[in-house]
Amino acid sequence: MGSKPFKIRAANDTQKYGVAAQDLNDLIAKGCKVLKVPIKGCKICLQQDGTLINSREFFQALPPLSVLVFLRKGEKWTGDDFGKMILSLLEAPEDPVRKQQLTESLEGMIAKESSPERVHALNLYLQSLPDNIDAETREEDPDWFEGLEKRYKTKSQVMACSAQGRIRGYYSKTKEYVSNLEDPVAKIILKRVLENFRPCLKNNGYHGDYFRRTAKPKKRLCTQAGWFVCHGPYNTKTCQDKHMINPYSSRQKRAVFSTWNLDHRVEKSRTILPSMQQAAVSCPKGKQLNWEYFYELLFTTDNLKLVEISCHKKEAHKGYECDEKKYYTSK
Ligand SMILES: [Zn+2]
Repeated sequence: MGSKPFKIRAANDTQKYGVAAQDLNDLIAKGCKVLKVPIKGCKICLQQDGTLINSREFFQALPPLSVLVFLRKGEKWTGDDFGKMILSLLEAPEDPVRKQQLTESLEGMIAKESSPERVHALNLYLQSLPDNIDAETREEDPDWFEGLEKRYKTKSQVMACSAQGRIRGYYSKTKEYVSNLEDPVAKIILKRVLENFRPCLKNNGYHGDYFRRTAKPKKRLCTQAGWFVCHGPYNTKTCQDKHMINPYSSRQKRAVFSTWNLDHRVEKSRTILPSMQQAAVSCPKGKQLNWEYFYELLFTTDNLKLVEISCHKKEAHKGYECDEKKYYTSK
């Protein structure tokens, strides 16, 4: 039987080491040596939730690179911070102050969290919290606005700003790409394209309506009550997991919604921007770049999909290219 690699650590030290072991005894022998933990009385558990690894079957079932904690005699491990926090929440539901503290720590974690499994677990917890969907103003639901600037008076205003922030981000990425171009011809042409984008974005309010539940039905991505449905990975028609969320319902949901993505089906950096550059340098005489086409790809739901974190695939979107037939219009 071959060796399996693991990451190991001691309970009182977060430093991790790599070891490869053939079986449980081998793992104990090697791990104890590396971590300077006495073999006698040593126990091994999963860092994630503290499950003891005490059988050959369990050892075999462990995925490679699992993070394991070596416990000295008498030491205990109940899981990492995340696991501990969920556990404490479940154990102390009656204490409102403690619960509030834990919820705030969880929100901090959501902001930093990138693992879909964990975000999902957080979601399950957050679903159990009370919500206040109908409330719209700061007076009606002050808790929802906690941590936000005073100038925000309504939830729709906050959500619109959040959508605008994303669209502005795509614009500045495009601008950055153009200003880094070395080819002077492409640069001049694309600067003109940017000059066309700008007023168009302004006219469209930087597409803040995508997240504004008070916007006209055709303009918004949510229902009138503020429910958003995941559009599914770039290469599917719908979301198999039926992800949905209402960021208008609570501060926590608003935090989770910030991990949802407006994903470019035809990718911005890998595909659209290089294609735009290519189109600029090979523009035929008597034609001009069809900036409206590229605008639609970069900034509108013609090409943007709203996706929950686990439906946001980071891989290259193979087969999703710009349509060369739409690159130019007549002058
Ligand atoms: Zn989804």
